[in-house]
Amino acid sequence: MKSAIEEAFSSLKGEFHGDLLRPEDQEYAHARGIWNAMAERRPALIARCAGVADVQRAVRIAAAAGVLTAVRCGGHSLAGFSTCDGGLVIDLSRMRQVSVEGAARRVRFAGGCLLGSIDVATQEHGLVFPSGVVSHTGASGLVLGGRFGWLTRLHGLSCDNVEGFTLVTADGSIMHTSAEENAELFWALRGGGGNFGVVTEFEARLHPLRSLVLGEAFVAGDEISSVLRHWREFMPEAPDKLKWNLNLRLAPDTEDVPAHLRGRPVASESVIWAGDPEEGRPYLDHILSLCKPVAVTRRVVSYVALQTMADNEFPHGRRYYTKAGYFKSLADGCIEQMVQALATVPSPATQIELAYLGGAAGRVGAGETAFGDRGSPFVVNLLANWTNASEDSANVAWIRNLFSVLRPAMSPGVYVNFMSGDEGDRVPEAYRERWDRLVQIKSRYDPSNFFRLNQNIRPKAV
Ligand SMILES: Cc1cc2nc3c(=O)[nH]c(=O)nc-3n(C[C@H](O)[C@H](O)[C@H](O)COP(=O)(O)OP(=O)(O)OC[C@H]3O[C@@H](n4cnc5c(N)ncnc54)[C@H](O)[C@@H]3O)c2cc1C
Repeated sequence: MKSAIEEAFSSLKGEFHGDLLRPEDQEYAHARGIWNAMAERRPALIARCAGVADVQRAVRIAAAAGVLTAVRCGGHSLAGFSTCDGGLVIDLSRMRQVSVEGAARRVRFAGGCLLGSIDVATQEHGLVFPSGVVSHTGASGLVLGGRFGWLTRLHGLSCDNVEGFTLVTADGSIMHTSAEENAELFWALRGGGGNFGVVTEFEARLHPLRSLVLGEAFVAGDEISSVLRHWREFMPEAPDKLKWNLNLRLAPDTEDVPAHLRGRPVASESVIWAGDPEEGRPYLDHILSLCKPVAVTRRVVSYVALQTMADNEFPHGRRYYTKAGYFKSLADGCIEQMVQALATVPSPATQIELAYLGGAAGRVGAGETAFGDRGSPFVVNLLANWTNASEDSANVAWIRNLFSVLRPAMSPGVYVNFMSGDEGDRVPEAYRERWDRLVQIKSRYDPSNFFRLNQNIRPKAV
């Protein structure tokens, strides 16, 4: 008797236009890899779709055969949800079309796009789609989860800028959603992750922007706590055009870092001003003079340069583990706990990433989209980043320990795209008062939980 996956392969073979890759195929080894090496899996079949009809075929056949199925855009799921052992991967990497209507300030992009291709295409028209900060990240997973980035305060979350989705649902049919059409599903797709189907096309609003002012500096020693306190007081009153991020870490061993700082705990500061440089000057002057900053730089950068500057810090194939949360306010005690934790950080590439939300993202009502939390503006992401499998337990333990120390002061909630694969119990917490509505919508569109390799919203019957 044939196994379910063999059955699915036989059925797909005759009618699939893209590539069907199995472990014995030459391309398989490369095609199975995803960004986080901690999530190494061996799918039995990778269906690299050539277009929407292929997606429909793969969904129908896998659902009928009962095959465990993962959906992959950029493969950057920190939790490793875009692959699986022994099942099928619906790989969208051949579906990367981007089409910009400059005059209307609109973009359509396909479900396999990486952020970089959207940035390059929209910049040809002097426009931007607000997205994440690393250009090799997949757009689908990022936008469906919500997304934070450099322009969150000015233009909202990515999902706030989406006006329509086309998707293949669990029965293999195509649906279009917008504020006017299938509005419940439209609501759920803005933050609800990959729970409702395979999105094959996004339609989104764009905004004019070509360049920004970027200021960078390091703060070390006793000044780290002090700069965090300044940041905490300053950001609630900051204009939307300003974003000031702080990463706590060991200073990297690179040429742009003064030799005496390398390997020492620092707050690495990045400030952007997305507007007239003269208007932004007093803000940057103020921030970049606080707490004896070192290696201060300030320059005008193109949007594409900004969007690619962190690409090399987070390469494919390293090992990553994350835990995240929100704070309504950041107490002195939490600041001290984070700063002290740097003394024992096991990997020089690990970072405690701090961002302040608010602005346009904070002004969207809590019930307007499925996205989790807009009321607690301080976002903390603990991101371990290391190379050797032998160091897994030390790195994972460091993140878990720091998280458990900070957790009592956090407000309930978490951003689904900053969660690891072992946090399924936190998914209802991520959506809180939106949870029951999401379960209703999931039960209607995916009653058998076919799309379950995600931060999963289980339908009622399953
Ligand atoms: C280097 C790096 C930088 C990041 N920077 C940011 C950032 O600046 N801001 C931010 O908010 N987040 C950021 N993230 C987190 C990011 O939002 C998530 O990792 C996101 O899931 C990545 O999307 P992807 O398409 O690459 O993921 P994949 O691994 O391909 O998929 C992730 C999830 O989405 C589902 N999915 C993928 N494509 C589709 C589709 N077309 N239709 C339906 N479901 C789909 C998958 O099934 C899976 O459950 C970053 C992550 C990394 C690794």
